[in-house]
Amino acid sequence: MISLKNIFKSYTQGDLDVPVLHDINIEINRGEFVSIMGPSGSGKSTLMNIIGCIDRPTSGEYVLNELNILESDEKKLSMIRNQFIGFVFQHFHLLPRLTALENVELPLIYGGISKKERRKRAQEVLAKVGLADRMDHLPNQLSGGQKQRVAIARAIATNPSFILADEPTGALDSRSGEQIMNIFTQLNNEGTTIIMVTHEEEVAAYTPRCILLRDGRITSDMKRVFT
Ligand code: ATP
Ligand code: MG
Repeated sequence: MISLKNIFKSYTQGDLDVPVLHDINIEINRGEFVSIMGPSGSGKSTLMNIIGCIDRPTSGEYVLNELNILESDEKKLSMIRNQFIGFVFQHFHLLPRLTALENVELPLIYGGISKKERRKRAQEVLAKVGLADRMDHLPNQLSGGQKQRVAIARAIATNPSFILADEPTGALDSRSGEQIMNIFTQLNNEGTTIIMVTHEEEVAAYTPRCILLRDGRITSDMKRVFT
């Protein structure tokens, strides 16, 4: 579970403190599927970086899976990221010289898993995102949607409690975007908690909960029931 209380974040620019997030309060339970929307510059990526333990808030409380994040040192944070969080980015962030399979194996190498197990697990998750026949391709031999599916396979390879995705469909055509959202929906139905940022209403329509940010504040946090 994720619990953010009274989160405030400012960036220092020269002599100035520029406030970016104000009094953010969010609880996200295991199994939720949440989208975060808001205008450019409203603080969405800053919030995702805080949730993903990539950046620290200036003040507030953050508890993730019962761990107090703000009291954790860098080593602990890196362990928390590797153990609990899978990241998906707008521009995929695949290593260009590694095949799809090798990209997916990477987080498992850091996890200290044997070569044979790594290969098996990477093959499983690539098959799950529909890329069983593309495992030996390099990123530049794949379409945008396929690259994003490799990135999702890499994110789920370690079985994280959360997937954090910042504009995962932002660089894709609408059909590939739909495929990505169908994969996320399937993963969520299987129990993975997903938090994603999007600009697109059609993409947010897949998620039962939507949080709106404006000028660094939450202006709406709505749940809807799909019938
Ligand atoms: P977009 O939709 O364009 O991705 P966003 O909602 O993700 O926007 P953020 O990237 O979180 O917005 O940025 C929020 C504000 O914080 C912006 O005004 C930005 O200029 C500022 N900002 C972000 N990162 C930094 C940084 N490292 N140093 C200083 N200011 C920053
Ligand atoms: Mg952003």
